[in-house]
Amino acid sequence: MIYDQVVLRYGDLTMKGRNRNQFENKMVKAVKQALIPFPNTSYWKTYGRMYVKLNGHPHGPVIERLKELFGIVSVSPVVSTEPELEAIRNTAMKLMQSLDHVPKTFKMNVRRAWKKFAYNSQEMNHLVAQHVLPAFPEMSVDVRHPELELRVDIQEEAAYIYWEVVPAAGGFPFGSNGKGLLLLSGGIDSPVAGWMAMRKGLELEAIHFHSYPFTSEQAKDKVVSLAKRLTFFSATRMRLHIISFTDIQTTIAGCNQEHLTITLMRRAMLRIAQGVAEDINAGGLVTGESLGQVASQTLASMNVIGRATELPLLKPLIMMDKNEIIRLAERIGTYETSILPYEDCCTLFLPKSPSTNPNLKVVERVEGNLASMEEMIMIAIRDREVIHVYPTESPNEVQAGEEDWF
Ligand code: ATP
Ligand code: MG
Repeated sequence: MIYDQVVLRYGDLTMKGRNRNQFENKMVKAVKQALIPFPNTSYWKTYGRMYVKLNGHPHGPVIERLKELFGIVSVSPVVSTEPELEAIRNTAMKLMQSLDHVPKTFKMNVRRAWKKFAYNSQEMNHLVAQHVLPAFPEMSVDVRHPELELRVDIQEEAAYIYWEVVPAAGGFPFGSNGKGLLLLSGGIDSPVAGWMAMRKGLELEAIHFHSYPFTSEQAKDKVVSLAKRLTFFSATRMRLHIISFTDIQTTIAGCNQEHLTITLMRRAMLRIAQGVAEDINAGGLVTGESLGQVASQTLASMNVIGRATELPLLKPLIMMDKNEIIRLAERIGTYETSILPYEDCCTLFLPKSPSTNPNLKVVERVEGNLASMEEMIMIAIRDREVIHVYPTESPNEVQAGEEDWF
C-alpha cells in the first residue's frame, strides 16, 4: 500500500473567528475517538488541518470512518515525502504507477504553501509532469476536464502527494455549538433530525416516551439501537432519557376529547422534555417534525403544541419531503431499524380524526381540568430512566485513557 497518511480538511469558513481553538480541540477529540478501532494509527495537527498517520493500516476503512465526522469537509489519502524536487518527482511517479487504471487525461496541481521552496507552483507543475508523463505514453494533459488530477501540497515539514478528495460530512465539530435534547421516537424522522442537529455542532442527549405495557420492550430496544447509531457519528456516548408516559397518556385518552388527544400528548411531551432539558443544561429541543406530514404537524397544530414550551424548538426536517428524509435515513444507516414494526406510544392512542387546527383556548381549558397533570409531569421527569449509549460494544474500550472526553 502506497499511502502513509490521511489529510483531514476543516473548511475555511468554520475556521475563522474566536471559536477556532474550541473548534480544533473538539475536532481532535472526535478524531481520537474515531481512531480507537485502528490502534496502529496516530494523528497530528497543523494549521487548519489534521493528519492521520496510517502506520501500515489500510487507508480504506480509516477514510470511511473519518469522512463521517462532523466538521470535516474532505479527506484524502496521501503519500508524504521530503519537500525536495527529486523526492517529489519520484513519489509522484510511484503514486501514478500504483493506480489500478491509467487515466486517459491528467493534470498537475501543485500548491506551494511553504514559500521558501525553491520552485513556485507553476514551475513545479511542469517539473513533475515532465517526469511522470513519459512513463505513461497513452496519457495526455487536459487542464480543463482531466480524468485524474495529481496534486502536490508542499509544506515545510513534508510534501503530500495524492489525487483523491473524498467529500466528508461537513458542518461543525460535534459539541462545538452547545447542547440540545432530541425527542427520539422509533420512527424514521427523528434520528435523521438528530443527525442533522449533530452535524451543526450540537451535542445531543435524547429523550424517549414509552408507554409500557402498551408499548413493548422491543420498542424501547429499537430506540436504544437508533441512539447507538447516532453515537457512531459523534464517536462519543449519548445519554438517553426514557420517560414512562403511560399514566399521562391514559389520563389524556380518558378526558373525552378524542380529536385533541395528540395535541395534548405532544404538549405534555414538550413540558417533560423542557424539564429534562433544564436538568441537563440543554438550550433547545430537537424534533423530527416536517410541515404537513401528519395532523400534529400542520402549521396550526405546531403553533398550539409549540406554546407548551419556551425553549427553542429545532426542526431540521421541517421543509423536507418524506422521500428526501428516507434517503438520508438510508445514508446514515437508521432506516432499517426505524422501519421495524414495533408500536410507538402515539400510534397506539391515535384518534380516528385528530385535529389539524386545534384551538389554543380550548386546549388550555381541557388541560386546566386535568388536575393531576402537573404532578404527573413532575413525576415523569423525576423518575426517568437514564441509559448510557456507547458507540462501541464495550464502554471500557471507549473510556480507556479518554476520561476527559466525557
Ligand atoms: P418519527 O418518524 O420521528 O417518529 P413522525 O413523522 O412519526 O416522526 P410524529 O409521530 O408526529 O412524527 O412525531 C413528531 C416528533 O415528535 C418526532 O419526530 C419526535 O421528535 C417526537 N416524538 C414523537 N413520538 C415520540 C416518542 N415516543 N418519544 C420521543 N419523541 C417522540
Ligand atoms: Mg412517530
